Amino acid sequence: MLNVICPHNCKDCYALHVCAVRAISEREGAIYVDTGLCIGCGCCKTACISFGLKALEDKTVAWIMNAA
Ligand code: SF4
Ligand code: SF4
Repeated sequence: MLNVICPHNCKDCYALHVCAVRAISEREGAIYVDTGLCIGCGCCKTACISFGLKALEDKTVAWIMNAA
């Protein structure tokens, strides 16, 4: 299942590049997580908060995985 996480706030999504299992993708101007691939490591959240515009700051890993 694709879970939209951001309307692509950054010119280049920092979170997308750190996902080891390539669960994050850009589609039609938005950033999505494939919850079937996500292993809940939280690296995307760290990258987003550190370098991006904090779209994932208030999101738990369970939310990213769509398990909440
Ligand atoms: S705010 Fe976060 S999720 Fe959105 S594009 Fe920037 S790094 Fe990616
Ligand atoms: S929490 Fe999921 S989407 Fe985020 S970097 Fe880890 S595997 Fe990828």
